[in-house]
Amino acid sequence: MSGPVSGATYDAIVVGAGPNGLVAANRLADHGWSVLVLEAQPTVGGAVRSDTELHPDFVHDTFSAFYPLAAASRTLASFALEDHGLTWRHAPAVLGHPLPDGSWAMLHRDREVTAALLEEQYAGDGAAWLQLCSSWDRVGESLVSGLLTPFPPVRALPGLLRGLPGAGGADFVKMLLTPATTLGRQLFGGVHPRLLLAGNAGHADIPLDAVGSGLMAVLLCMLGQTVGFPVPEGGAGRLTQALADRFTGLGGQVRCSMRVERVLVEKGRAVGVRTAEGEVLRARHAVIADVIASHLYGDLVAPGDLPTRTLTSMRRFDLDPSTVKVDWALDGPVPWASPPPYRPGTVHVSDSPEQLTEALTQVAARAVPADPFLLVGQMTTADPTRSPDGTESMWAYTHVPQSSVRDAGDEGIRGVWDSSDCQRFADRMQGRIERLAPGFGSKVLSRRVLGPDELEARDENLVGGAVNGGTSQLHQQLVLRPVPGLGRAETPLRGLFLASASAHPGGGVHGAPGSNAARAAVARRRRRLGRP
Ligand SMILES: Cc1cc2nc3c(=O)[nH]c(=O)nc-3n(C[C@H](O)[C@H](O)[C@H](O)COP(=O)(O)OP(=O)(O)OC[C@H]3O[C@@H](n4cnc5c(N)ncnc54)[C@H](O)[C@@H]3O)c2cc1C
Repeated sequence: MSGPVSGATYDAIVVGAGPNGLVAANRLADHGWSVLVLEAQPTVGGAVRSDTELHPDFVHDTFSAFYPLAAASRTLASFALEDHGLTWRHAPAVLGHPLPDGSWAMLHRDREVTAALLEEQYAGDGAAWLQLCSSWDRVGESLVSGLLTPFPPVRALPGLLRGLPGAGGADFVKMLLTPATTLGRQLFGGVHPRLLLAGNAGHADIPLDAVGSGLMAVLLCMLGQTVGFPVPEGGAGRLTQALADRFTGLGGQVRCSMRVERVLVEKGRAVGVRTAEGEVLRARHAVIADVIASHLYGDLVAPGDLPTRTLTSMRRFDLDPSTVKVDWALDGPVPWASPPPYRPGTVHVSDSPEQLTEALTQVAARAVPADPFLLVGQMTTADPTRSPDGTESMWAYTHVPQSSVRDAGDEGIRGVWDSSDCQRFADRMQGRIERLAPGFGSKVLSRRVLGPDELEARDENLVGGAVNGGTSQLHQQLVLRPVPGLGRAETPLRGLFLASASAHPGGGVHGAPGSNAARAAVARRRRRLGRP
């Protein structure tokens, strides 16, 4: 093998072109830095990509699909991505949750419509929903901005403190700390709003009876009421492509199919990277890692370059659960036995809050869930450009244990996620939809199953099919993310910044870890140069 090839020097090198890496790259380019982004995959986007693998006429989002957090993100808004080809589209309704009795719990963008539908099901729930919305109106924006900026959220605090008394003061804080299932029972009499809360909490891996699940539930429901669950016209990949186009328009460089295998360290400072091909690229001011923490520490950065404390803490780094995702190209709309009052983009599938809780509990108990909770996307409903008129580009995903000890269902799925496990589990998932939409199977033109291995092969940050760069549970949040410290983008190595979903505030497409990392890099450079 030949020795390392020396390449150019940049102000910053960003490892990984996921949304967070691209946000960091844009931010640094805005500051006039010369920036190179290196991406292992053949295309940019990380877990925000789309493809036409299933059918040439159908666009499928390979991973993520709905972007309430992106729509609420001030960072992304500041990039004016609409000027770089991004157009947001909305389904007629944000979210629907079909029940076995034929009714639908619905989240409509118009809160009055949501409230009226909830009121029809249970007297008083409409008013209770509107009360929740009006409390949120007072603090929601500050809360979201506090969540999406570095910890502690100093800038958001005044707004929060101003709004809190009108939102209910300490009672509102208590409400946000209440677990999702308890909260649903406390606020509402009917099952529909309880399902909306529980289903939205189920987007994170926080148990529905644990602190944090209530905040997640309220956050996503209220974002549904304020910004909706939008999708990029033409496919998820248009969002990251817009970020990449803006960045290259500023003079930034992106090189794909370039895996970084080592962060180079000299005298305790990150000074560049070495690619898998042996090319050495140097960074004057910063290496920004859009890399899952468990790969960064001890793999990309050699163990000998890290303090023992970091290595020890990383041994206790807790991944979030694994994932199985199924995509379908359908030759017609989903034949829901009882059609929803408004056609939703996102659909949640679980018969009751109790069944939903049980499914998540089984995953926590390392069992393959018998009745998995499905997150479903009707993408053509949300964006008619995704497939020909009258058809549907659809997906569903659900979580499974990182390592399973048994199948809580009857099929003896072993949890090794080879082709047999994946196909049988996909049948179980499809069976859940078929029960609510008889004839669904006959609409399928083609199906693709992405198990944990397939997800990771397409994006190595999705270790074992984990989607959020580490658990979202309280023991690994804020100053504890990814390891106990300050909850900031700085790492034990000068010049190295963590920009991925493994950093505060975690997963979801909002760009906060990327923005925080860029901000920290710029601040450090100013300190070094002694400039204000
Ligand atoms: C199936 C699925 C569904 C989801 N649904 C939603 C949703 O609907 N809405 C939402 O907001 N969020 C959703 N998420 C979560 C969201 O996609 C992630 O939180 C987000 O993409 C994280 O962004 P990131 O930039 O930190 O990492 P990623 O998007 O994972 O990007 C990391 C990039 O870095 C590259 N990389 C890693 N290591 C190296 C290396 N050594 N050298 C070079 N390149 C490297 C990878 O190839 C990848 O391109 C979903 C995720 C998954 C997997």
